[in-house]
Amino acid sequence: MTVQRDLFGIKIDALRMKEAVGCLRDWINEDSEHSCRYVVTPNVDHAVLLQENAGFRKAYKFADLILADGHPIVWASKLLRQPLPERVPGSELVPKLFDSFNDQARNDGRPLRVFLLGAASGVAAIAAANMKATWPDVETVGVYSPPLGFEKDPDESNYILGRIALCCPDVVVIGLGAPKQELWVNEHRDRIRAKVALCVGATIDFLAGEKQRAPVWMQRVGIEWLHRMCSEPKRLVKRYAKDAWIFPQLVWRQLISRQPSSNIR
Ligand code: UDP
Repeated sequence: MTVQRDLFGIKIDALRMKEAVGCLRDWINEDSEHSCRYVVTPNVDHAVLLQENAGFRKAYKFADLILADGHPIVWASKLLRQPLPERVPGSELVPKLFDSFNDQARNDGRPLRVFLLGAASGVAAIAAANMKATWPDVETVGVYSPPLGFEKDPDESNYILGRIALCCPDVVVIGLGAPKQELWVNEHRDRIRAKVALCVGATIDFLAGEKQRAPVWMQRVGIEWLHRMCSEPKRLVKRYAKDAWIFPQLVWRQLISRQPSSNIR
């Protein structure tokens, strides 16, 4: 049973990293037929986008696990008395999951089968090579970088779904950016032949070494966003300015309204 916190209209699972990894492992090891479960990782930008994008809200509604990606979400949770125990960023969840299966594979010989979907052309293949070196027992069974605008072409989605089905992965790591990745996975979940899909933004770039995560001290003090903004100013300055304006209003609005109670999943 998972406690969920209600923050700015998002139900967020109050889990620690270890518990989230445990939950994913249970789903992956489950024998029963179940449609693909999917995981989303809200940050400030998602919280803002959700206010204006009904499709994104729907994708969040049907997500099987919702994990707080960013420090500001965890700080706000404490201020709003809906405390989340810690942040569980997608870019850390993926390597932690691989770590746990690497150990497990040594015990029973079953590798974790992973499909990488997204990032610029060629990047996922580099990520796969790096993964092989770091996690020899995690097997990348397929990679694919869809062309820009693919989501508007049903044939392209059919092609992707076919490729995934051929590779029989346990996990699909999806790095298409928000809200594209969440919308796509929600629309096609019944046809994704995998146990779990993880919507995790730039994680494939990080695995490939194509983008660097912020130094640990920046992550600790909660300014990872500043590092990202400096590395991609053209794309991110406008977005972060909007987020910085709207997010405090979302927190304030919830602070002055009656506090919603937590939910049990
Ligand atoms: N991306 C992609 N196809 C698209 C749009 C984006 O593969 O149509 C990839 C892009 O190459 C990058 C990732 O999605 O690897 C973006 O991740 P990020 O976390 O920066 O996304 P955000 O949600 O912050 O926009």
